[in-house]
Amino acid sequence: MSKNANHGPHDSKGAKNLYDVIIIGSGPAGFTAGIYTSRAKLKTLIISGSLPGGQLMTTSEVENYPGFPNGIFGPELMMNMRQQAERFGTTVVDDEVLNVDFKNRPFLISTHSESYEGRAILLCTGASPRKLGIDGEQEFGGKGVSYCATCDGPFFKGEEIAVIGGGDTAIEEATFLTKFGKSVKIIHRREFLRASKILQEKAFENSKIQFIWNHVVTRIGGNKKIESIDIKDLTTGKIQNLSIGGLFVAIGHEPNTSILKDQLELDDKGYVVLKDSTRTSVEGVFAAGDVHDYRYRQAVTAAGFGCMAALDVEKWLSEKKIHA
Ligand code: NAP
Repeated sequence: MSKNANHGPHDSKGAKNLYDVIIIGSGPAGFTAGIYTSRAKLKTLIISGSLPGGQLMTTSEVENYPGFPNGIFGPELMMNMRQQAERFGTTVVDDEVLNVDFKNRPFLISTHSESYEGRAILLCTGASPRKLGIDGEQEFGGKGVSYCATCDGPFFKGEEIAVIGGGDTAIEEATFLTKFGKSVKIIHRREFLRASKILQEKAFENSKIQFIWNHVVTRIGGNKKIESIDIKDLTTGKIQNLSIGGLFVAIGHEPNTSILKDQLELDDKGYVVLKDSTRTSVEGVFAAGDVHDYRYRQAVTAAGFGCMAALDVEKWLSEKKIHA
């Protein structure tokens, strides 16, 4: 370990739990970063979080991750990434971070069962799709209810599809889904969209898209997979049942940043603000993936950001001369 380490008040816990870099989160960004930092001989810890492997653990087949011409199941892809990071020496602990302290150095990270110190921190905690919170949503997750058209759209060939939301994501996803679905109904709680005009125009011109205004979904029904939804007219209160084969919920995402409040700069929606490449407002703390990127949100872009952040961490530690 470092000869010139910037010792702070937490160093008393000893070197056992002191790492060159602690990566919080274990999606494609976290594991890719771990592969790079451990190959660069940095002592690396990944704290996996409450869903080890991240959002891809809840998807079925991933067809758009390069290198797998026949597709790969999300959980298998994440296990492969984990093994690849571990092969180069990354330690992975399946635990959840409860507290971070970026005010002192080394930085202190506390989980349910342990405290760890990191000379650099890489935040890869991702984001979670906002949920409707209605009956059947959880039960039919992965059985017709999806939060990502790019990931799951091709599984809905010839189906009647419904998309919930009126923002850019909903409209973009609905347009994309017309490639696969027999028809796509956009169900929105208002009678106007917040999506950009250009996306709106494209959707209005698309003969496969129909709009159901001033409605919300109140229940999702089915047997082994989704079969129908109840929708409520917000102007009359009337409820009707619609037969559908797929429901895409596109009502926004929430970055997983609750542990970061008061520790570094977040934007008004709670995403980590990047200052220069993957550097955050706190020197020595970096971020990669959906925790800062609300726009692309793909496994492959998260992996790319993870690589960039790992190279930034390596450069920063070497500039500061605080690693072995
Ligand atoms: P968003 O802009 O926050 O829109 C969320 C939509 O879901 C809104 O129409 C909202 O309705 C609706 N909604 C929220 N909670 C709901 C609930 N409980 N039940 C029913 N409807 C609900 O989210 P987003 O579309 O994911 O976009 C996020 C950001 O990414 C935006 O800044 C967007 O511009 C950007 N983005 C850009 C592109 C692009 O440029 N190509 C593509 C995708 C996303 P209300 O309208 O009534 O609030």
